[in-house]
Amino acid sequence: MEEKGAIFGNAVKQMEKAFKYVKVSEDAKKILSHPKQILQVNMPIRMDSGKIETFRGIRIHYNDARGPTKGGIRFHPNVNLDEVKALSFWMTFKCAVVDIPFGGAKGGVVVEPKKLSKSELEKLSRGYINAMYDFIGPDKDIPAPDVYTNEIIMGWMADEYNKIRRQLSPAVITGKPINMGGSLGRDDATSRGGFYIMNEIEKILKLDKNKTTVAIQGYGNVGHHLARLLYDDGYKIVAVSDSKGGVYAKEGLDPYSTLKIKEQNNMIDAVYCRGTVCNDLDHKHISNEELLQLDVDILVPAAMENQITEKNANKIKAKIILEMANGPTTIEADEILSRKKVLVIPDILANAGGVVVSYFEWVQNRAGYYWTREKVYERLKEIMIREFKNVYDLHKQKKVDMRTAAYILSLKRIVASIEAKGTEEFFKK
Ligand code: NAD
Repeated sequence: MEEKGAIFGNAVKQMEKAFKYVKVSEDAKKILSHPKQILQVNMPIRMDSGKIETFRGIRIHYNDARGPTKGGIRFHPNVNLDEVKALSFWMTFKCAVVDIPFGGAKGGVVVEPKKLSKSELEKLSRGYINAMYDFIGPDKDIPAPDVYTNEIIMGWMADEYNKIRRQLSPAVITGKPINMGGSLGRDDATSRGGFYIMNEIEKILKLDKNKTTVAIQGYGNVGHHLARLLYDDGYKIVAVSDSKGGVYAKEGLDPYSTLKIKEQNNMIDAVYCRGTVCNDLDHKHISNEELLQLDVDILVPAAMENQITEKNANKIKAKIILEMANGPTTIEADEILSRKKVLVIPDILANAGGVVVSYFEWVQNRAGYYWTREKVYERLKEIMIREFKNVYDLHKQKKVDMRTAAYILSLKRIVASIEAKGTEEFFKK
């Protein structure tokens, strides 16, 4: 049996809650309780100082029953085996919830990327692919960006793969720059997927979006694009934060100005900018913990795992939680939120827009035929709405929370693929 750390253990328990509602053979349970394969490497990198530093790299293929494995690469000092296992597990279920033909994987490097120069970052990104070359491939395992990795890093990685292979293989990595075969619409796809879901919830709950307040934890790729999409649609973004803390402005923030000032000063602030002139808005500085407990309608965790726990779940006042981060809520917190009747849209559904458009990028790379931005949005919207409705219907029918409903749907699909190769009963006869 696989050794389970806290994060991976939490993830497996989420799946186990759905066993009550889906027929899952013992064979499938065994296969799904641990990753298929793990590669760990130590990468020696020559730093600008002339010294060698070694960085630990991890890549995990969790399950490939439904297709080649897919998952991002995270550069963060806290990357560890437990976290990457959990993230690869969630990728398996995420791809199945939105019914795309991929299994789940994830990768990471233990590094504080903010301390590296650009050329050190490039060497590390290329070094990762050098070490993982045989473990990835367009028909095997396809990486993408995650926390503190971006399209430039994906471009270096794709280029390194092509150099080793002596052939262009754009479908090996997604989230690439557009000029290297990236897809239009991949940049804000994760947020846009969550946004389409919010629009559906808005209709079901008859929300008046002009009066609906939102707090977003994490102002990176996912957090800031979501803030922008919701703001443009009329929602009131009252609080945002990053790793250094956040701001709360009762009258609402302008996400464009907030991003501009973060890019300039490397810190979040509540300002309203017109051209180059920025004026302070009436606001309060708050911690990440305070942000989670604000009296808002919608709370969006868009940073790291384990933010909503048994310690703070009771203090949460939001009625809707849209999980844009992976694994932000522990299993104990889930129970509390469920008792409080908070509608939690689970990560494996809420943030699946990114992997959907990554799938579109892979399809376009293989076909050599590229779609317009409108086509990408249209197809993304169709998938997100269809699968949101499937999960929501299961949530109502089975009287389970949305997370368990999402696991029921994805488990059915994964188990069907595992059992397509035969079941215990089939081989016994
Ligand atoms: P990013 O690197 O662009 O941004 C991360 C943000 O989180 C930054 O603003 C950072 O300051 C903030 N942050 C880091 N630690 C924090 C902490 N302890 N408290 C509060 N804020 C903190 O990363 P991203 O791509 O926006 O990813 C954010 C989350 O969304 C992650 O959980 C990631 O796995 C998930 N996700 C990302 C994608 C994608 O397409 N990028 C897809 C699905 C899920």
